Amino acid sequence: MAILHNLGFPRIGASRELKFALESYWQGQTGSDDLLATAAKLRERHWQLQSGLDWQPVGDFSLYDQMLDMSVTLGNLPARALGGKDLDSYFRAARGRAPDDSDCQCKHAAEMTKWFDTNYHYLVPELDANSQFALYPARLLGELGEAKVQGARPKAVIIGPVTYLYLSKTKDGSDALDLLPRLLPVYQQLLDRLAATSLEWLQIDEPALACDLDEDWQQAFIDSYRTLEKHGPKKLLCSYFGPLLENFTLAAELPVDGLHIDCVSQPEEGRREAVALATALPPERILSLGVINGRNIWKTDLLPLLDWLEPLSQQLGDRLWLAPSCSLLHVPYSLEEETQLDGELKSWLAFAVEKLTELQTVGAALNRGRSSVSHALQSNTEALARRRHSNRVHKPEVQAAVNGIHRGLGNRQSPFADRAEQQRRLLQLPRFPTTTIGSFPQTADIRQFRLRYKRGELSEQQYRQYMQQEIAYCIAEQEALGLDVLVHGEAERNDMVEYFGQQLDGYAFSQYGWVQSYGSRCVKPPILFGDISRPSAMTVEWSCFAQSLTDKPMKGMLTGPVTILNWSFVRDDQPRRDSCYQLALAIRQEVLDLEAAGIRIIQIDEAALREGLPLRRAQRQEYLDWAVESFRIAANGVRDDTQIHTHMCYSEFNDIIDSIARMDADVITIETSRSELELLDAFDDFNYPNDIGPGVYDIHSPNVPSSEAIVSLMRKAAEKLPAERLWINPDCGLKTRGWKEVLAALQNMVSAAHQLRAG
Ligand code: GLN
Ligand code: ZN
Repeated sequence: MAILHNLGFPRIGASRELKFALESYWQGQTGSDDLLATAAKLRERHWQLQSGLDWQPVGDFSLYDQMLDMSVTLGNLPARALGGKDLDSYFRAARGRAPDDSDCQCKHAAEMTKWFDTNYHYLVPELDANSQFALYPARLLGELGEAKVQGARPKAVIIGPVTYLYLSKTKDGSDALDLLPRLLPVYQQLLDRLAATSLEWLQIDEPALACDLDEDWQQAFIDSYRTLEKHGPKKLLCSYFGPLLENFTLAAELPVDGLHIDCVSQPEEGRREAVALATALPPERILSLGVINGRNIWKTDLLPLLDWLEPLSQQLGDRLWLAPSCSLLHVPYSLEEETQLDGELKSWLAFAVEKLTELQTVGAALNRGRSSVSHALQSNTEALARRRHSNRVHKPEVQAAVNGIHRGLGNRQSPFADRAEQQRRLLQLPRFPTTTIGSFPQTADIRQFRLRYKRGELSEQQYRQYMQQEIAYCIAEQEALGLDVLVHGEAERNDMVEYFGQQLDGYAFSQYGWVQSYGSRCVKPPILFGDISRPSAMTVEWSCFAQSLTDKPMKGMLTGPVTILNWSFVRDDQPRRDSCYQLALAIRQEVLDLEAAGIRIIQIDEAALREGLPLRRAQRQEYLDWAVESFRIAANGVRDDTQIHTHMCYSEFNDIIDSIARMDADVITIETSRSELELLDAFDDFNYPNDIGPGVYDIHSPNVPSSEAIVSLMRKAAEKLPAERLWINPDCGLKTRGWKEVLAALQNMVSAAHQLRAG
């Protein structure tokens, strides 16, 4: 009998209950009791939904982030966050402040970065050579208690010691691995405590196994699992986000009770590893196969999967466990409420709840025979056949355009130095030009208006008028502040990817397909299902209206092809590269239309370029080549005196700085303030050739940076880069912030620019 389980369930709630509970708690509108009650209700509902599985995950829920939870469990919150109630310390670590903190008590929030190659952001654990750990198991033990009361069969979930250290950052340059001997005793204690609760299985997530591991990290795996061998419940070691590849033997030989591997990210390697493990694992160990893709929203092709699984099931019996490839955190909750999705497209999709149903269908087919689920199998096969042959998916003219892409398409007419000269003459900007990244605060009013328009409660004309008013307001504020390059504020955009997807052919939209991005922030990735084309201009009207209100240059604002790709659910029936080129051609048309309409500066955001980077080094260059080429195709068809900006955020760029340079944007603005300008280290070895604006205002925190702090950050930057190539800007868009703090921060930013210009 194949055993069914799940690695994790989306925690935000069918109607984003967690988001709203968090935000109202942070704003002081509700108390901690309300927040915790909502959280408990969500857990209960989610365990119920998973009750058809043999094991339900417990501990996958989080009020903010699972890495932060692990930091709490290990007693590793930054000292500056501690004080008051536990929940205060928790949110202070996450966001820089707790609801009751007065303004002056703000601390800087922990650094946030992408969780492997996903669009989820975790809070980076902070370590130094003196870090001490201590066990705080209350959250996990409490949730296990809840699960038992509710009749679940709990499998506890934690992040393993190696991945925890692997994703940490030491503030003093020491080696995180030196802390392993100090960390493992706390894991031992945790495992012992869990064993004492009569818990049978513990899922230990070690996705670091899907990365290239140097010898010392491999050794850390061996040391860790030997040290933990005699402790705790049975251990299921989980690797996901890719095959094991050269970590195969390492993983197979670790002394644990079961191993979970990802069989779908790279299906050939994954399946090969599964077959090899079925023979290689000692007979008492279980093998868990991630066979339902936890990263996409497509139905699984069940018949070929069963063809492959049946012999393994024969061979392994109840040593075979089946699950989604990774936590379902990365897919939306359920298709059930999606009444507006086109029926045919919907029949091709599976969200979290449906993925669990697929898993149960697979389980039933293996355990009770295919005939026991013949209806489900047949409708699955039919839906996928329709998708394969649909002319809504396959459009010959788009494929012909992609085939027509040639080398020259991505080249600017002249080298940067010549262009920069022409742009200087045209734009007449001061030294240290100031600008913002695009969005201004999205007030409740704005969101309300967009919603009413979407619901058909407002006429096109009313909506336009309102948006124009917002743009006018935003421009007046920017002029009053004295910013040099203005933006229209993006009030019309709900989301920087969805906005474009909505206007492109080949995209579809869910109503409730929310996926957690970080904390209470969710995104609703559009679904790229078919060949892409742009029926008409997408942003030209707003940008031109905005430009008509000011003499300052107005930045046109687009999302780049790589980011649209990486923040969408994309096709699994063609290489990502091909989808990206299709997007690049569509954005190129928009860029040229903006230029023709008189917009002199165009920013093409590639916030997500870095996150598409494959986890394995050997696969990176190929990705970077087509990603950079896609940006170049989109951006570089313009005249020399049109200034192209790009913007990137949230992650480490140092290792891809040469690819970023190859994009050849005239100006890049980049997130750095959370990592305290660490990014600039990259410029020690690499001479970045074009203009750059290192973000000097951390927009993830409500704190207002002082002008002295900004001046000092910029002076640091000017030690590495020529001052005449530096811009001053926040590190990302301002849409989540309030006007009051934004105005205060930008005021300080502009005044910092004045100080810098003065000497
Ligand atoms: N232009 C976008 C904004 O300002 C960029 C957002 C981002 O990089 N994530 O909102
Ligand atoms: Zn950004």
